[in-house]
Amino acid sequence: MPTYEYACSNCGERFEKMMTISERQRQGAPRCPKCKSKKVEQVPAAFQAVTAKKT
Ligand SMILES: [Zn+2]
Repeated sequence: MPTYEYACSNCGERFEKMMTISERQRQGAPRCPKCKSKKVEQVPAAFQAVTAKKT
């Protein structure tokens, strides 16, 4: 299952969401877990590869 990384443009929170491709197409972008804003942007895969690390 692919992991998608999102950045909230409201509070700057970065979070990852694991979901299938069909789930993502059905649900669209998730809400920010911190401020509940829907103004989240998906972090591009290339950028994600650079910053990906175990938390
Ligand atoms: Zn937020």
